Amino acid sequence: MSETRSEISQLGEFGLIDRISKNFTLQNKSSIKGIGDDAAVIDTGDDYLLISTDMLVEGIHFDLAYMPLQHLGYKAVAVNVSDIAAMNGKAEQITVSIALTNRFSVEAIDALYQGIKAACTNYKVDLVGGDTTSSTSGLIISISVTGRVKKDKVAYRNGAKANDIICVTGDLGAAFMGLQVLVREKEVYIADPNMQPDLEKYEYLVSRQLRPDARTEIIFDLEEAGVKPTSMIDVSDGLASELFHISKNSGVGIRIFEDKIPVDQVTFETAIDFKLDPITCALNGGEDYELLFTIEQSDYEKIKNHPDIHSIGYMHDKKDQNIMLSKQGTVVPLQAQGWNHFTNDPQT
Ligand code: ADP
Ligand code: MG
Repeated sequence: MSETRSEISQLGEFGLIDRISKNFTLQNKSSIKGIGDDAAVIDTGDDYLLISTDMLVEGIHFDLAYMPLQHLGYKAVAVNVSDIAAMNGKAEQITVSIALTNRFSVEAIDALYQGIKAACTNYKVDLVGGDTTSSTSGLIISISVTGRVKKDKVAYRNGAKANDIICVTGDLGAAFMGLQVLVREKEVYIADPNMQPDLEKYEYLVSRQLRPDARTEIIFDLEEAGVKPTSMIDVSDGLASELFHISKNSGVGIRIFEDKIPVDQVTFETAIDFKLDPITCALNGGEDYELLFTIEQSDYEKIKNHPDIHSIGYMHDKKDQNIMLSKQGTVVPLQAQGWNHFTNDPQT
């Protein structure tokens, strides 16, 4: 080991993961895809087994002042299932590991597991194990998920080709605006505990932040339509960051249109109220857990009438040109901000 000390903040989250993965090569023939996609891909014979893991840490990913434990349990499962969906697969099992302080009661853990159970029922996944330990500060939940996909249906981040159409499901930026609303209400409450939060108008935004859903039904819809995405990723860090992952891994450039980015009306109005640009929120907000994927042009007819799939642009062969055409027709270079745990951003 050298004597010098380098700061992790200089590398950032993705730089650190790159540094780790560089030192490991896959040794087993069954390890089809290792580090670098939404889930690892393992050859189990007939199908591919998918494995992914995600950790939620109190104070980093959630604040129990506004996050009910039941929702937290649900969200922790949903974000894992979303990573399996992002491989075009179906989740089947989870393991749940928790680290707790004695601040938590039995009833609190019951509430957490009620949420986990609701998600297991909804996504038809089985809780098959986990680990329980104590923690010196706050609650940590780490969930691993396994899933399955037919070998010819697996969708990686690296399969996009020039001229493929870029699609995204649902709408973007709502979870981020939900967080802004919750943070503001918490501040109001701290200033005057008699003030009751007025969240009715923001119900959709807050639910997108506290209880996101994985878009598992889209996987079935694509299958039914006979469409195999050429690449796919879920939107956890923000549309721009995920577009960069697809561009970098596929070696092709991105061209999206600002007026095609789906933003819900309340998200739009709330962003304006907060003096934020709605499109910036959609591009960089994160935690949407929508699916971002590319399809061949010849498949467009098959999904163009789907009410929840929006085409937002296309891939082109200049891999260093990731741009957005603004409503005014100007060319805006896309910036992959995403959330970075090791700099000053508030949340992943
Ligand atoms: P996602 O946002 O889809 O959950 P991440 O950005 O967390 O994906 O991770 C990207 C890739 O890096 C994944 O393949 C993940 O398994 C891998 N990865 C993340 N952290 C580590 C780590 N500490 N060691 C090894 N692999 C990691
Ligand atoms: Mg992912």
